[in-house]
Amino acid sequence: MELDLQPLNLPSNTERPFVIAGPCSAETEEQVINTAKQLASKGFRIFRAGIWKPRTKPGGFEGNGEKALPWMQMVKQETNMMTATEVATAEHVELALKYGIDLLWIGARTTANPFAIQSVADALKGVDIPVLVKNPVNPDLELWIGALERINGAGIKRLGAIHRGFTSYEKKLYRNIPMWQIPIELHRRLPNLPIVNDPSHISGRRDLIASLCQQAMDLGMDGLMVESHCDPDKAWSDASQQVTPDVLDYILSMLIIRENVDLTASLSTLRKSIDEIDNELIDLLAKRMSISREIGAYKRENGMTIVQTKRYSEILDKRAAQGSLKGIDAECIKKIFESIHEESVRQQMDLINK
Ligand code: PEP
Ligand code: MN
Repeated sequence: MELDLQPLNLPSNTERPFVIAGPCSAETEEQVINTAKQLASKGFRIFRAGIWKPRTKPGGFEGNGEKALPWMQMVKQETNMMTATEVATAEHVELALKYGIDLLWIGARTTANPFAIQSVADALKGVDIPVLVKNPVNPDLELWIGALERINGAGIKRLGAIHRGFTSYEKKLYRNIPMWQIPIELHRRLPNLPIVNDPSHISGRRDLIASLCQQAMDLGMDGLMVESHCDPDKAWSDASQQVTPDVLDYILSMLIIRENVDLTASLSTLRKSIDEIDNELIDLLAKRMSISREIGAYKRENGMTIVQTKRYSEILDKRAAQGSLKGIDAECIKKIFESIHEESVRQQMDLINK
């Protein structure tokens, strides 16, 4: 489905990107106003703060709810910044509108649930407000596009997407793995839809924010949403990924913004795809090795030799043939599988010698 879009036209202190900055959560009136004033003094124009916080487990800080909305009004009055918050239910939408929030975003957990998205969309009917839809927690582009379609179907034309990374079972470097190929494909499918990068929720760590911002810019993304707190270590949620307004300003001042970068055609996009594929290759190889070790254990228990020559030559021949069918030189595939086999044998020997 084609989306019916209008430009977001969000204020920015530089040509590109526009930046939405502010704490993960609105904790206290003082923390909200203090952070907003510091951000405003650095030229930031759009203030974010979570009023309702979706927490993985009960017992965490779930946001102040309606009580915190007047603090957002004060931010507007005192700093002239636009305000933004996450909405997950029709009631959130109503309250956010009642208190004059200027921009809404839909969180990753909500995007993953079409019923929730539809009820937010229904609550937005007849309202003209910019809405940004975060990617769903799971790497499902169709679900993301479906959510965008539902919100657009409610008449929201100032629409954008936020790339905040995807949940993975095994915890790796990132809190949520970026899987850049997904926003790149989103851009290919919906070229007029602005995409904002959220390095805070991708990284989960403040030391990775700068490099993620740069990568997002190198891919030609339109904006950034970064969590910023006047006292990050004391934050009531997501403390490890927040930076002070000063640090955020410094990070952004170091960004190299290249002109005319196209998310689907730039060299860095292609390189990014190669990086992703290499990561997958390494993960797959690690999985293969762990199965090899299981086989090694079986051989040890059953008094079998490690190298079973017949099986080995079969693998090499089969893989070489499969490779040629895909246009890869058979000799090259053989070399690759010889190395993989060599490492497999080494790992099995290791096991046996233990
Ligand atoms: C947030 O922006 O604070 C948030 C809860 O994000 P996400 O939906 O990406 O987890
Ligand atoms: Mn957060």
